[in-house]
Amino acid sequence: MSVTINENYLLLQDSYLFVEIARRVEKFQEENPEKEIIRMGIGDVTKPLVPAVVNAFKEAVDEMSKSKSFMGYGPEQGYSFLAEAIIKNDFEPLGIKLGLDEVFISDGAKCDSGNIQEIFSFDNVVAVTDPVYPVYVDTNVMAGRTEGLNEDGTYKGLVYLPATEENNFIPELPKSDVDLLYLCFPNNPTGTTLTHDELAKFVSYAKKNNVIILFDAAYEAFIREDNVPHSIYEIEGAKEVAIEFRSFSKTAGFTGTRCAYTIVPKELKAFDSKGGKQDVNPLWNRRQTTKFNGVSYPVQRAAEAIYSDEGKKQIKENIDYYMKNAKIIRENLSNIGLNVYGGINSPYIWVKTPNNMKSWDFFDLLLNEANVVGTPGAGFGLTGEGYLRLTAFNTTENTKEAMKRIANLSFV
Ligand code: PLP
Repeated sequence: MSVTINENYLLLQDSYLFVEIARRVEKFQEENPEKEIIRMGIGDVTKPLVPAVVNAFKEAVDEMSKSKSFMGYGPEQGYSFLAEAIIKNDFEPLGIKLGLDEVFISDGAKCDSGNIQEIFSFDNVVAVTDPVYPVYVDTNVMAGRTEGLNEDGTYKGLVYLPATEENNFIPELPKSDVDLLYLCFPNNPTGTTLTHDELAKFVSYAKKNNVIILFDAAYEAFIREDNVPHSIYEIEGAKEVAIEFRSFSKTAGFTGTRCAYTIVPKELKAFDSKGGKQDVNPLWNRRQTTKFNGVSYPVQRAAEAIYSDEGKKQIKENIDYYMKNAKIIRENLSNIGLNVYGGINSPYIWVKTPNNMKSWDFFDLLLNEANVVGTPGAGFGLTGEGYLRLTAFNTTENTKEAMKRIANLSFV
């Protein structure tokens, strides 16, 4: 008997949020089989892959069926045809130049934003915004960057930067020393964004304090306003301090198809224990080539098709559809006197609960009396208490029906 476990895993809190939502919804449905529930909780897309993507996907599968065009292992970092399309379409129009070896194609922004911390030392201090996409926190707990929980449910050693109504969801710069800083804009769960100037403050802070920003731009495709940066590299000097994560999941309905990418600029450096400066890009390259064997060829061809003229048009139609739902949610909830945030550059709407209700009480009220399912904000962190997240990933008919039902509730 000598095998011992990684005890850091014992420090993790049960991720009971979606399990608990499912339990309550199931119980309600059992007791009220005649009620039609509208689900606006989980952040998964509802529209299928667009035709341009499906055609490219099918053609690539066909290639795999013939010995002449069959593809075996591909480059771990992804095929250059996709990396070239990414650079040309997602960055060059913004005036950002990238080399092919700065683009790492993967099967998800969840894995990349979770794995990235591996290449940094265990004694780095990690800062996250609060509320937060839980992957950033849990992966650092697994890695041993905390000694355990505080009484309030936050982790010792992690630095939390609250984003609330009071600061207009613009987190303050860390007051204590930090090394790695996770930022996600447009934000999950709040749906809010930073302007160029606000993001520039974080970049300049990172430069001054030798901090690396881990910038999650999974919802970039939903940005509508001109003053909101699509990439952190739009900010001068950001290549020296930031890694950026992107995903085709929400952009193009790839949640079940799986494709994403991460940019690790050549300019990015971090210190070794002797105080020397090391390039970060080769470390991520080494990590990926050792632990990852690339995204399947048909999926990368399918992702490439997003950038065709047809693909761009079809994807835009889907995103416009979701954003129309977001507008319906925002307007209807505002009209009945609720404070709502996000939903302008993001498919998420962050609703302040009425009458200072707790997140879970408001969740129950919506479920029981309007048969609408949201996600309690408290599940995303301490400062998520008192909020509820609704998503625009649904049909417009359901969205309108949900708003009608909420408008008839007694708190209105
Ligand atoms: N990053 C954020 C902020 C997300 O909300 C999500 C999914 O919900 C992801 C990353 C995961 O993206 P992927 O499907 O590419 O793993």
